[in-house]
Amino acid sequence: MNRSTIWHPFTQHALEPPMRRIASTDGAYLIDEDGNRILDTISSWWVITHGHRHPKIMTAIRAATEVYDQIIFAEFSHEPAERLAEGLIEIAPPGLKHVFYSDSGSTSVEVAVKMALGYFHNRGEPRDRIVVMEGSYHGDTIGTMSTGERGVFNAAYEPLLFGVDRLPYPEAGGEQETLDRFEAFCRTGRVAALLIEPIVLGAGGMKIFGAHLLATLKDIAERYGCLVIADEVMTGWGRTGTMFACEQASITPDILCTSKGLTGGAVPLAATLATAEIFDSHLSTDRRKTFFHSSSYTANPIACAAAVANLDIWRIEPVFARIQRIETAHRRNLARYAGDARFAHSRQAGTIAALDLVVPAAGYLAEAGPRMRRLFRERGLLIRPLGNVLYLMPPYCVTEQEIDRAYDAIDEVASIVLRDAA
Ligand SMILES: *Cc1c(COP(=O)(O)O)cnc(C)c1O
Repeated sequence: MNRSTIWHPFTQHALEPPMRRIASTDGAYLIDEDGNRILDTISSWWVITHGHRHPKIMTAIRAATEVYDQIIFAEFSHEPAERLAEGLIEIAPPGLKHVFYSDSGSTSVEVAVKMALGYFHNRGEPRDRIVVMEGSYHGDTIGTMSTGERGVFNAAYEPLLFGVDRLPYPEAGGEQETLDRFEAFCRTGRVAALLIEPIVLGAGGMKIFGAHLLATLKDIAERYGCLVIADEVMTGWGRTGTMFACEQASITPDILCTSKGLTGGAVPLAATLATAEIFDSHLSTDRRKTFFHSSSYTANPIACAAAVANLDIWRIEPVFARIQRIETAHRRNLARYAGDARFAHSRQAGTIAALDLVVPAAGYLAEAGPRMRRLFRERGLLIRPLGNVLYLMPPYCVTEQEIDRAYDAIDEVASIVLRDAA
């Protein structure tokens, strides 16, 4: 058995070969010790936006280390955190006015849920239910696992997870049922917030739903005084074609979570943005109404400086033109599979594209997933299917030729695994 000193995430060490060591990163590539270049088609778990080691971000980090390390963020502030907060408020959906820093997507969602409950608690309104959508993923802490989809991934922790109200995923034609269910939950008067991944459910299988549904959910929430928390940890920073996915529904959530692409993916940082109403509900001469949350590395100045550089890149460079080029390349390639019996449900939102592999039998996937990963790696590509869902979410520096190469590999690998299964 391969007993590894380092315990890797989402890894069954008994079944995986020893980890390849990556020696450096460059643009759209991971480069291993032997100099092999691996095309990072999933942006290193969805964090790298512009490309690995964007020079402006690397320079900003280097400069920040000349003057800062960690600084306690109670009692003190610092320029990178202030510049970043201003910049975030400028680009976020209008009406989000306050920025709370943490260090991962999961913590940004934990913070959001605590803000929502604190809002009602401080107003003396007894609301304690969170509504989520089936198939959602919000992180791997106990709180975010509670709000996410249940399954083999969290079965061991189930006894400690708190209950939430779940909306059926709005399959085509089933949107009204999702809306009706939400309204029914709201009518109980106990719903504090709807926590939702806008437009794309990421880890749940790159499921894409319409902006109209999101806008209608927000309408219903408003009518019943429920808050909306947008978990834009994955969808933020251009992934779905707009800076934030909420823009496509023209909504401003009460609370917005961002992390992955916040620093361009270079270093960990997260932010939870809130409206003045949420902030003000915690603003009181009564100390008990304080927002009681912190993590040691809150607003790390080096991470904030990286994020400020990221904002500059969005301001100065033609990032949306790059995103459009990726959208076009996805569309052209997905068209190859129209009517192809090996695949179903080809779909895309901005830079994200996905296809379901039509697998012969249930249970077959447990073997096919790791097998496909190996076959992709042999072809110099990092592609990690989610169950039978093959998807691409490349960094924005990727070229059209590189995207074509990824689809060629999908074509080839799908044929191999389906042939062997027949
Ligand atoms: C990745 C992800 C998270 C968790 O972020 P971490 O940084 O891994 O804790 C939360 N929500 C969504 C939508 C995500 O995709």
